[in-house]
Amino acid sequence: MKYKKTAIIFGITGQDGAYLSHFLLQKGYRVIGTTRNKSARNLYRLKRLKIIKRVKILKGVATDFNFCNKVINLKVNEIYYLAGDSSVLKSFETPEISLKSNTEGILNILRILKTKKHKAKLFNAGSGQFYGDNKKNFYNIHSKIDPQSPYGVSKAAAYWLIKIYREKYNIYCCTGILFNHESPLRSKEFVTKKVVDTALKIKRKKGIKLRLGNVDIFRDWGWAPDYVKAIWLMLQRTKPRDFIIGSGKTYSLKDFVNEVFKYLGISKKNLKTNVSKYKRKIDLRGYKANIADTQKALKWKPELKFKTIIHKMINNELF
Ligand code: NDP
Repeated sequence: MKYKKTAIIFGITGQDGAYLSHFLLQKGYRVIGTTRNKSARNLYRLKRLKIIKRVKILKGVATDFNFCNKVINLKVNEIYYLAGDSSVLKSFETPEISLKSNTEGILNILRILKTKKHKAKLFNAGSGQFYGDNKKNFYNIHSKIDPQSPYGVSKAAAYWLIKIYREKYNIYCCTGILFNHESPLRSKEFVTKKVVDTALKIKRKKGIKLRLGNVDIFRDWGWAPDYVKAIWLMLQRTKPRDFIIGSGKTYSLKDFVNEVFKYLGISKKNLKTNVSKYKRKIDLRGYKANIADTQKALKWKPELKFKTIIHKMINNELF
């Protein structure tokens, strides 16, 4: 089979890795991905998208320099770095893992591209979390970076490494500063998936309650398949640069829960908020993306709106 290009995805088993693989296969790419664990359980997203047999999976981790070297030698055109600990909460428990996985892996790849004078293009998954707290204003690419968590620090460090290697060594590398994006493939540890899964349990069985902490937090929630398209577009340009990838809209967690309960016809009696166990002192109250520049430069727009994203997350479990 003749492929258009070869892409390597570090973190292929994650939400974005799975959707990006699906997208690239449709575009005629050879897709290679990395994972630390090839167990069937860890590959479930690729199975759900029915692409497990169409991608090549390598066991290893980008923090291992020799593994990175081997992988990049596979005549790759595009490298997508989506691996690493993606949980803000966990980053307070194991900051060293966040720092290592989100920063050291990207540094290894940059060093290899520089030494080998490799022409592969590199995408790094950044996060709107590194801008810190801001309920009122929209963040743009020039906003001040002010991380409030070890996760935010790890993403800021990787962002600056990318910038330095791009400017000093002329490497095609860039960071997509991603705001929250959801899908039926979202990990259970994230609140949106917890809300949907628990609401479905309530619908099936009486006596269950959804217990949450502070629901007055605001997020810019988008649709993961929309975002992988923007990620891909970032590597199709002639000149690399960083972009904000978000929906440009903001909703509270309360809005999210209300829509889930309304769609499923569940009474709010089944909801308990401000449960101290789930209250996070460290959580950001809100942050949102200004995507005007991204939409114009990439000719991209987020297709799915807030309510449709929620309905799709629910329907996926029902049908
Ligand atoms: P996921 O958590 O779904 O996937 C990340 C993948 O990284 C996992 O499948 C895992 O693969 C690998 N991984 C996890 N921990 C480590 C570790 N300690 N060392 C090495 N590899 C690890 O994340 P998403 O797909 O949702 O996100 C992709 C990237 O985008 C991440 O970097 C995330 O931080 C960033 N991002 C995501 C946002 C979102 O809303 N989804 C928002 C902002 C940024 P395996 O177990 O197979 O090795």
